[in-house]
Amino acid sequence: MANKEKMGPPTLEMIQGNPYNYTFDEVAKCMGEERAKSLFKTLYKNGVSPKNQTMTIKDIYVGGDTTKYAFELQDGYCIETVCIKRRTGNTVCVSTMVGCPVGCIFCASGKNGFIRNLSPAEIVQQIVLLKERVNRIVFMGMGEPLFNYDNLIKSIHILRDRNGLNFPTDGINVSTVGPVEQLKRLREEHLKIQFTLSLHATDQATRNMIMPHMKSNSIHSVVEAALSYSERHNRKITIAYLLAPGINDRASDVRQLGKWFRGKNVLINLLQYNETACKRIKRPNKQQLVAFKIRLEEAGLEVKLRESRGNRIKAACGQLVSDYNKGNDAPTSDSPEKMSPVIHKLSDNKADTTRGIRKEKRHPFAKHKAKRKRKKN
Ligand code: SF4
Repeated sequence: MANKEKMGPPTLEMIQGNPYNYTFDEVAKCMGEERAKSLFKTLYKNGVSPKNQTMTIKDIYVGGDTTKYAFELQDGYCIETVCIKRRTGNTVCVSTMVGCPVGCIFCASGKNGFIRNLSPAEIVQQIVLLKERVNRIVFMGMGEPLFNYDNLIKSIHILRDRNGLNFPTDGINVSTVGPVEQLKRLREEHLKIQFTLSLHATDQATRNMIMPHMKSNSIHSVVEAALSYSERHNRKITIAYLLAPGINDRASDVRQLGKWFRGKNVLINLLQYNETACKRIKRPNKQQLVAFKIRLEEAGLEVKLRESRGNRIKAACGQLVSDYNKGNDAPTSDSPEKMSPVIHKLSDNKADTTRGIRKEKRHPFAKHKAKRKRKKN
């Protein structure tokens, strides 16, 4: 598996076994520039060939202008990727981990904890295997991207390489809860990416409650590091603020946000909570969102209400989770069957059928499990 590969320059065998895992420079050093160019053309310009894939599309859920792809990885775990169609093009929300260690209370992705990091190849293939043209990439799917720092940065280098996809760096957005050490590293990268900080609180106690595993990062250092990134790169950054009525919409929250961000190169994105199993946060209605937006604007801030997409197919922010991964009990399979993806189209009155469909789709794994059991006996 790619993420267990040993460090050091890749060998020809490693490149041939998992070609999406390597940058052009790594491939060129091993095979020479001409052969590397030809391989990158095959991988990124000639369409996808199953022999180069290390993951497959297992299910596709279509709900209006949002499509959710469930990918099966080589070790049997599943991840989810969302494609949102907008007037300005397609935005793809990419995952960086199986599970997540941060455990935000409003988010389904972290509810079973962290399972493993995704390799660069597994990140890159989420874009390459899609059947759609991608205009923007946001690292906002399952997992905290900066806790998988090296693989995140490597995958960005692969995606932007002019011999391959040649994806504009400006069209890539990394959204993070802001681990301070990694923010400092990111500040020093020569990458013109967009940056979003998921803040969601203005005091330590509230942030600790919302993000239980970020306690060791003081909220003030997180904000300071994010602003320092903005200044160093001379870029507008986005602060994502999920409105939780009664928790983070107090007068003191408005004051503190104003103190931190007034006059800075910052846009506040006000988010509406998308229902998961969390009972502690109530979904605000439109009036509450608009009222809070006006209070922030009166405090001198630039604010946008972010429209929530993909709720019907559990593809909105905080809803990505793969039931297959529950309890770290994924099936093991060295060469997963190349199954054709099952496409689930949800009509307007079938919002809740996703679960039933997922249950039905669990049986292929039961087959793997039974096989393992037989081997053991
Ligand atoms: S919101 Fe992001 S960081 Fe928080 S648990 Fe979900 S995936 Fe992890």
